[in-house]
Amino acid sequence: EELAVPAVRALRAYDPGHDLVALRRRAAGTGLVELGSNENPWGPSPRALDAAAAVLGELHRYPDPLGGNLKRALAAEHGIDASQVVLGNGSHELLMQLAQAFAGPGVDVVASQFGFAVYAIAARAVGAHLRVAPALPLDDAMPRGHDLDAIAGAITPATRLVYLANPNNPTGTWFARDAFAAFMARVPDHAIVVLDEAYAEIAAAPDFGSALPLLGAHRNLVITRTFSKAYALAGLRVGYAIAHSALAAVLERLRESFNVNAVALAAAEAALGDRGWLRDTLAANTREREALAAALRERGWPVSPSQTNFLLVEFGARTARIEQALLERNVVLRPMAGYGLPECLRISVGGPGENRRLLAALDELATTGD
Ligand code: PMP
Repeated sequence: EELAVPAVRALRAYDPGHDLVALRRRAAGTGLVELGSNENPWGPSPRALDAAAAVLGELHRYPDPLGGNLKRALAAEHGIDASQVVLGNGSHELLMQLAQAFAGPGVDVVASQFGFAVYAIAARAVGAHLRVAPALPLDDAMPRGHDLDAIAGAITPATRLVYLANPNNPTGTWFARDAFAAFMARVPDHAIVVLDEAYAEIAAAPDFGSALPLLGAHRNLVITRTFSKAYALAGLRVGYAIAHSALAAVLERLRESFNVNAVALAAAEAALGDRGWLRDTLAANTREREALAAALRERGWPVSPSQTNFLLVEFGARTARIEQALLERNVVLRPMAGYGLPECLRISVGGPGENRRLLAALDELATTGD
């Protein structure tokens, strides 16, 4: 501990919420309802599973260190050049590398209140100063969503990185394509904007749009994506960043050799090719999300608007007790106290059976007065 550099000594490790292995062991028999990590409950494309299985006979070989096939597939998918793509062991790794590359002592990093926890960890790990812009107020149409004006206003001459997500975790909220374009026009060239689009495939609101079309006009824009959410490959750890090729080349310098494993490379490429499967899984998520949101609102709990695969729900003063009582009934949600939202829980959208078990457990608590 005392030998760690000061920035790391001051750091707290990323909080995954719960020890799921222990909870699964305890719930053996009834099964654990896991709605804490924004995973896709329907699982990956069968083509991805086949491609993963096909690699197993080659595990004595190193993976392609350049990830060429996956990069080319992503470039074709997004209409960009493969030199603009950087692969990561999950997008989490890329978020950390961005801080390593562009931040450090004496540098400001800007993020938003209720932004994803990893941004603060990435900034603080390299000794940068974190400036947190306030989120939108509760009574807005996008309660607790990113306030792009406040974020732009928090940028100083010392700012080198700005982290924000669209849609955002943990709020589920999003901002309009046009609003982000206007925001980018205000950001000075010395600040690199990291737009985390981990949930972008899922978002379908008419005013939502990926920032990919803005890349040509802004050399200081980096977009991160992941195969962990819509593509249901969280266990394999594959994410990617897209930026101007000069910025991508900087990130490549920090990449560990073979950071994305062979199974992950093959499965991600195959998943990308299965458009019909993606369409179906997203339709199932939207259907279940809207049904779950309606059921929760019916029971009197405010639910934030969401274009993701999770809901931020207000349970009021009893939140911690409800969270614990649900845990005792083998239902895992994500507590939000670490985000400064102790009266909220984040609920990942499960399959119909899981959502039913969650609602039944909540109804049981209501009758027992727990
Ligand atoms: N960004 C956001 C907004 C997320 O919610 C997550 C996962 N919870 C990540 C990035 C990291 O995902 P991964 O490392 O699995 O790509």
